[in-house]
Amino acid sequence: MVKTFKYIILGGGVAAGYAAREFAKQGLKPGELAIISKEAVAPYERTVLSKSYLHPEFPSRLPTFYVYAGPRREILFPEWYSEKGIELILSTEIVKADLAAKSLTSAGGETFSYQILLIATGSTVIRLSDLGVQGADAKNIFYFREIDDADKLYEAIKAKKNGKAVVVGGEHIGMELSAMLRCNNLDVTMVYPEPWCMSRLFTSDIAAFNEGYYAKKGVNIMKRTVVVGFTANSDGEVKEVKLKDGRVLEADIVVVGDGIRPQTALFKGQVEEEKGGIKTDGFFKTSVPNVYAVGDVATFPVKLYNELRRVEYAEHACQSARKAVEAIKAAEEGKTVEEYDYLPVLYSHQFGHAWEFYGDNVGDTVLFGDSSPESSIPKFGSYWIKDGKVVGAFWQGRIEEERDAMAYVARVRPSVQNVDELAREGFSFARKI
Ligand code: FAD
Repeated sequence: MVKTFKYIILGGGVAAGYAAREFAKQGLKPGELAIISKEAVAPYERTVLSKSYLHPEFPSRLPTFYVYAGPRREILFPEWYSEKGIELILSTEIVKADLAAKSLTSAGGETFSYQILLIATGSTVIRLSDLGVQGADAKNIFYFREIDDADKLYEAIKAKKNGKAVVVGGEHIGMELSAMLRCNNLDVTMVYPEPWCMSRLFTSDIAAFNEGYYAKKGVNIMKRTVVVGFTANSDGEVKEVKLKDGRVLEADIVVVGDGIRPQTALFKGQVEEEKGGIKTDGFFKTSVPNVYAVGDVATFPVKLYNELRRVEYAEHACQSARKAVEAIKAAEEGKTVEEYDYLPVLYSHQFGHAWEFYGDNVGDTVLFGDSSPESSIPKFGSYWIKDGKVVGAFWQGRIEEERDAMAYVARVRPSVQNVDELAREGFSFARKI
């Protein structure tokens, strides 16, 4: 039997929750909308998984972090969906999508048809076994994307109490998980090939603070080398991590945060792609009529920089979902909405230290404030300057008090006359704009 809906959201992650909230806000009849998700739970705030979910004493657990999408950031519990007549079709993987026939087929053989499809399939991790790394299928080598992954790692942390953990990757996930493993009292070593951590965003100065702070907290960092293989014990559990430079690290747990790719395989050859994602316009419409793509999978026009980009950030997942639904509902009434006007936002916190970034990290940089890892209350920032204008703003430590000013600077891109003066002014430059 074919189950038919007016709207289907494919994927049950961050974007799905915010899209559902927007559909409900804009007006939805019971039975019109279904969310189909491989995961067994309603949409939740994925960013929590690598942070408080692994807290040693007070780990966050559902229902406290189902998406909080409303105006007062009220939590969308599973009952919210049933009250709104939204069907949550969970533990259901779609294995075939026929966009011409407007139909989706699940691994269990069910067929779903729709009038409008919102693709929100997010990203999947890149596995070391796919890259041919020897021994990468040993037990206790973990990847981290969904709540099941977080549960498995949590159990391993308990089982390998005070053991040794190796984290592969020095980007966002590697940084957050290293901090949480260390908070759980594991002996943690990070391994990454780049000259410094978070090299896609951080300058060497910002990284110097963070690497120094991690060292102070007891995290070992091995840079400029890669993992080439693993050995396992007689139970098949990982025992050693072999590095390209010949060093060998003991390990009870390995966590790999070595990159992700957008989940677009279902739609290959059916929809236009660009920069690894599904190409959309500024309303998240794809090249196929009545098919929209949001969140990590969408390659969309960034008006501010006049170029197409694909981003893997939570804030974009929320905002793109809202915009797509606004556009869908407006089109039904013959109206139009403003095009998406995105300002990149990325945030994180580790060891109780938060940072935020707004804008574009291109051009020259200026560091200001107290960026010594030894300070009792470090607080510093960095601006990126391109063509004489501030285009990006990063800051770390007591983030709330600077957020509005720093976000505004990145949005309006004020001119800079004197870079030395900018370094001296620091946060007050942003506050006076
Ligand atoms: P997702 O939230 O990944 O959801 C995709 C959903 O689609 C999943 O439920 C998946 O199971 C489902 N799905 C995929 N394929 C199928 C299929 N064939 N059939 C059925 N269901 C399917 N961003 C930040 O800005 N700051 C952070 O601090 C931050 N921390 C993060 C921490 C972690 C651990 C992770 C994994 C990501 C983090 N991110 C962070 C990134 C952010 O969470 C993502 O950008 C965001 O989740 C993307 O939302 P999405 O809805 O596009 O995809």
